[in-house]
Amino acid sequence: MKHAALDLLQTVFGYPAFRGSQADIIDHVIQGGDALVLMPTGGGKSLCYQIPAMLRNGVGVVISPLIALMQDQVDALAEVGVRAAFLNSTQTFQQALAIEQKMRKGELDLVYVAPERLMTQRCLELLEICPISLFAIDEAHCVSQWGHDFRPEYIKLSVLHERFPHVPRIALTATADQATRAEIISRLQLENALQFVSSFDRPNIRYRIVEKANGKHQLLDFLQAEHVDDAGIVYCLSRKKVEETAEFLTQNGIPALPYHAGLDIAIRTQNQARFLREDSIVMVATIAFGMGIDKPDVRFVAHLDLPKSIEGYYQETGRAGRDGAPANAWMSYGLQDVVQQRRMIDESEADENYKRLQSGKLDAMLALCETIHCRRSHLLSYFGETDSKPCGNCDVCLHPPIAFDATVVTQQLLSAIYRVDQRFAAGHVIDVLRGMDTDRIRQWRHEQISTFGIGSDRSEAEWRAILRQSIAQGYISVDYDSYNSLKLTETARPVLKGQHKVQMRRYEKPQKAQKQKRISNKDYSEADLSAGARLIFEKLRAWRMETARLHNVPAYVIFHDATLRDIATANPSSLTDLRGVSGVGEKKLATYGEQIVELVSSLN
Ligand code: ADP
Ligand code: ZN
Repeated sequence: MKHAALDLLQTVFGYPAFRGSQADIIDHVIQGGDALVLMPTGGGKSLCYQIPAMLRNGVGVVISPLIALMQDQVDALAEVGVRAAFLNSTQTFQQALAIEQKMRKGELDLVYVAPERLMTQRCLELLEICPISLFAIDEAHCVSQWGHDFRPEYIKLSVLHERFPHVPRIALTATADQATRAEIISRLQLENALQFVSSFDRPNIRYRIVEKANGKHQLLDFLQAEHVDDAGIVYCLSRKKVEETAEFLTQNGIPALPYHAGLDIAIRTQNQARFLREDSIVMVATIAFGMGIDKPDVRFVAHLDLPKSIEGYYQETGRAGRDGAPANAWMSYGLQDVVQQRRMIDESEADENYKRLQSGKLDAMLALCETIHCRRSHLLSYFGETDSKPCGNCDVCLHPPIAFDATVVTQQLLSAIYRVDQRFAAGHVIDVLRGMDTDRIRQWRHEQISTFGIGSDRSEAEWRAILRQSIAQGYISVDYDSYNSLKLTETARPVLKGQHKVQMRRYEKPQKAQKQKRISNKDYSEADLSAGARLIFEKLRAWRMETARLHNVPAYVIFHDATLRDIATANPSSLTDLRGVSGVGEKKLATYGEQIVELVSSLN
């Protein structure tokens, strides 16, 4: 069996070898076993069900919530010669009927179905009379009621096990935490499934979290310095900010489109299609965007606001660099983010349990932002991988921050808050510490309290950083019901009494992004390729663009950048030369081989 699977991988998909646990998973499912697959985004989950579906008798049924992406998925399979189709609400009755007929006649390897469609009487009855090779439950974390991708229809998927007990099921997700995993197993009745848990490390992604000064401009600097002409995603918290940021980037010469749930569905679909099909669009979006987006060459994911949890942050940043080439995860974060997120939790209508859970997740996110150790190690250990070493590819590893004993400054801050009766917000407290002469200080006679001016040697930004870390570490809370006034918490007491030492990262002035070694698509290829190969690569890219337009598919469906680069290096003068290149399977060789060999020859 293993041999047949490897043969398919090479001839159909054009890849020389399986990655990680792919071979074991495929083997297990081919033999009829159930599987739960946890693999990071870009890890290669799709092949884990596509190859067994092709090798087992019958049609493989893929359940996915992502209707908008089914067309591209099916087109990509058609390009390599796999017989695939989808059933969803975008089709006419006639179109669906034709697909159903093919399923009955055993003429399809794979069919993608939305969960609500699958649950209809008609569809379940259809499945009763078709030979089925397997059920693949993609984005399986959608069964989790705690996650932000919850889909009620997913819970009903346990019916598959009851009605089709002999059909193997493979559930897949890129969400790594234990709670979600347990929920998937119990809700989908996967107690007997073999679990395949891959490392969640994404070594090609560089993590960076910068101190927020002026988020939008910092973002612009970053993009201009490192990501000219690249595709990327910028996440913002609110719809309004999404629109403002998209407009701001566009005005500054960066082609950006907005995406959020409040936009007209037609506009949303159109923007998503442009992002997928064009080479260098920046999508500015709320977290409503991105699930299942398998565009491989997203070169950066930027967060202008603090995500609610590490799970969310990791899922969102994971959309960068699926092709394995270098990519950036960049975030700007400041005091205001902490205040805003805490307020959102406090003011939500949810019950106390849920709020506590959210609050815990936010604390974990803050700890990541403030850590003085490797970000990647921190992330991985959050997901249970505790044995990783400093990575050398995150901001902390590249420019280690300096930790200092912040016990005394924290005491100064806490005592200033106490002396103004815990009735004032950040701005005033910092003015008191810095000994400023303001109307409010005179009005309240705060120049007479003992902490007035004891912190005049520190800048306002520095004090904000100390305050932010004090909130992150839990000594101070913000009271939203009384003008964001700062309050001391129970844990402030041991600090004030000198019983508890405080460590913080030393404040560093935000630096303007410098033109540094870029890791954009263009540069990556330029760094790698000889002058001759570079010319071939550019020509191949232009050819691909034209071909993709003719076929009405995204460019990456024709060939990935990595494949074009390999072709350029191989400089093939015959179909035989082209055959061995990773990403060139038999069907693509037959379809495009001649054109490519001709194009390459004309340049030599
Ligand atoms: P996931 O669904 O886990 O996010 P995909 O299935 O979309 O990931 O795979 C990510 C990328 O890696 C795809 O472009 C896919 O073609 C490629 N890929 C998967 N498996 C292999 C392999 N064994 N060799 C080379 N490329 C692979
Ligand atoms: Zn690191």
